[in-house]
Amino acid sequence: MPFLSDTLSRIKPSATIAVTNMAAEMKAAGKDVIGLGAGEPDFDTPQHIKDAAKAAIDGGKTKYTAVDGIPELKKAICAKFARENGLTYAPNQVSVGTGGKQILYNALVCTLNPGDEVIIPAPYWVSYPDMVLLAGGTPVTVPCGIESHFKLTPEKLDAAITPNTKWLIFNSPSNPTGAGYTRTELKALTDVLMKHPHVWIMSDDMYEHLVFDDFEFVTPAQVEPGLYDRTLTCNGVSKAYAMTGWRIGYAAGPVALIKAMATIQSQSTSNPNTIAQWAAVEALNGPQDFLVEFRAAFQRRRNLVVEMLNAAPGITCPKPEGAFYVYPDISGCLGKTSGGGTAITDDESFAKALLEETGVAVVFGSAFGISPNFRVSYATSDAALTEACTRIQTFCRSLT
Ligand code: GLU
Repeated sequence: MPFLSDTLSRIKPSATIAVTNMAAEMKAAGKDVIGLGAGEPDFDTPQHIKDAAKAAIDGGKTKYTAVDGIPELKKAICAKFARENGLTYAPNQVSVGTGGKQILYNALVCTLNPGDEVIIPAPYWVSYPDMVLLAGGTPVTVPCGIESHFKLTPEKLDAAITPNTKWLIFNSPSNPTGAGYTRTELKALTDVLMKHPHVWIMSDDMYEHLVFDDFEFVTPAQVEPGLYDRTLTCNGVSKAYAMTGWRIGYAAGPVALIKAMATIQSQSTSNPNTIAQWAAVEALNGPQDFLVEFRAAFQRRRNLVVEMLNAAPGITCPKPEGAFYVYPDISGCLGKTSGGGTAITDDESFAKALLEETGVAVVFGSAFGISPNFRVSYATSDAALTEACTRIQTFCRSLT
């Protein structure tokens, strides 16, 4: 349509959101669908957080706030960074936005000029490259396959850096693979960045609290204090506190960048929802004990899904360190035909046939930049996961 912008023609709708919506629509139409597409915890937001939101409404905290967050929330965020990550930030180094998405987007919009490159290890979360394109930059994706456990290596990072590189987007534990970088692995990457002072690092730590088997979460500015002045440490309450719909994300970094992000926000959305900000204060300052339960449930589900998927013919499913995703490889299924007659030529046809023939919704790997794979979000009940994996096994066995 000629009325629409050229920018729009460079991007595509979010595949994670599209699959989630499709599964919801099919369910609403009465179909027997198990949704493993949506990347959101199935747990309810803890009661004390909901109570804080209700108290905010009753207390009349319903007006505009400072554009990039109330002082109380910025203080809680500074305390969180000190307590959990050993990072010292002042409130004027903190930005709060409408979800992690807005934070990342603001940061890219206020730093990228045409020709600026952003290194994105693949598999990546679907929105990174498109956000870079929307901001006028050039995404440089670096394939990091199953052989390197879906992780970026120092050699690959070094080779991808050019004089035009502005950012590396780093995400551990990763969406879509769940892969987490150890301190040693991350230090090897930050050592490379220390040699390239023009490159900044945007660390998306959204899955920080969802790590298993005693895996130690670390973030770049903590591992290499020499990068503190060129790191934007991003996080949010969505995944850890089961607060996806509240839309509160945040980041800490150099004052000039934080100020620029506030400028973008002041001319686009203004402050994130006031009530949700008060809920986030309680999430960060309140009891953290339920996180242990959340983690235990996710670890149990990860084990269940990894074991059942590896038992499906043609599928190889690595066991990740964190998040609530697995990213199985389906090489062994390609070139076959499903029971319903669909030729499985790639991961998109696999996911489509799986949904149509078994009612299991997953996100195809090409949306995340590494194929042939699919992403499973196992943030759903053990019973639903067992049923879904049984259907996947039956589907794979039916391929001829
Ligand atoms: N981050 C989640 C996912 O990957 C939520 C949907 C989205 O924003 O992409 O599924």
